[in-house]
Amino acid sequence: MGMKADIRLIDDNGLRIDGRLPNQLRPIRMEVGVVKRADGSAYVEWGGNKIMAAVYGPREAYPKHVQDPNRAIVRARYNMASFSVDERKRPGPDRRSIELSKVISEALTSVIFVEKFPRTAIDVYIEVLQADAGTRVAGITAASLALADAGIPMRDLIVGCAAGKVDGVVVLDLNKEEDNYGEADVPMAILPRTGEIALLQMDGDMTYEELTNAMEMAMEAAREIYRMEIEALKGRYGGDVNE
Ligand code: UDP
Repeated sequence: MGMKADIRLIDDNGLRIDGRLPNQLRPIRMEVGVVKRADGSAYVEWGGNKIMAAVYGPREAYPKHVQDPNRAIVRARYNMASFSVDERKRPGPDRRSIELSKVISEALTSVIFVEKFPRTAIDVYIEVLQADAGTRVAGITAASLALADAGIPMRDLIVGCAAGKVDGVVVLDLNKEEDNYGEADVPMAILPRTGEIALLQMDGDMTYEELTNAMEMAMEAAREIYRMEIEALKGRYGGDVNE
């Protein structure tokens, strides 16, 4: 964010470098039930991102001292494959992935009926195979599908979506160049039906009015992504999805 370069991110027609309108999402494809050994899984392609999510549990939490007698603990692990980015990513957790894992765990905890499963752990593995900005929100979306696939009771499906600002324009769903050279990025996790926000971060700077516009844009897109989630689950379960 913020490294102002000589490239223009919005052209004379108001279009972005990949030809999108300011409020247009990148193409998104979702597939549910892709890993046999997991209790639930999903694969999401979102623009240049390719992300797998696998869920295990609820199962008895180990080591025992991490157990909570009143609820399940949700342990999300966000991991970027070494080959997922231009410059080889050093394998293993770094500061960024540890922080992302923590905030994603908290966002998912807020939608899962964790009180139903005392002393258990729900493990959510998010593997970024190819990254092109917006991996945390695409990862949250994949995790939500994998949790639903695992049959874990949730208040609602959760949707990740980002908006931000590039060349002075509020835009939806930033790609890599926009993330690198734009002014702001605001990743969010949203429950579209109730309008609740389970995660909100901001990198860069913009005015209060621009921020509220960006959030509104992400909220609207989240309703569309929510419909895609329902369709992906129907594709797997032949229409037997509680909407
Ligand atoms: N990125 C990278 N190496 C890293 C971390 C990130 O090349 O170690 C790239 C990757 O394409 C990622 C983008 O930078 O999607 C934006 O990263 P950010 O931290 O903003 O997270 P994201 O937008 O993916 O949630």
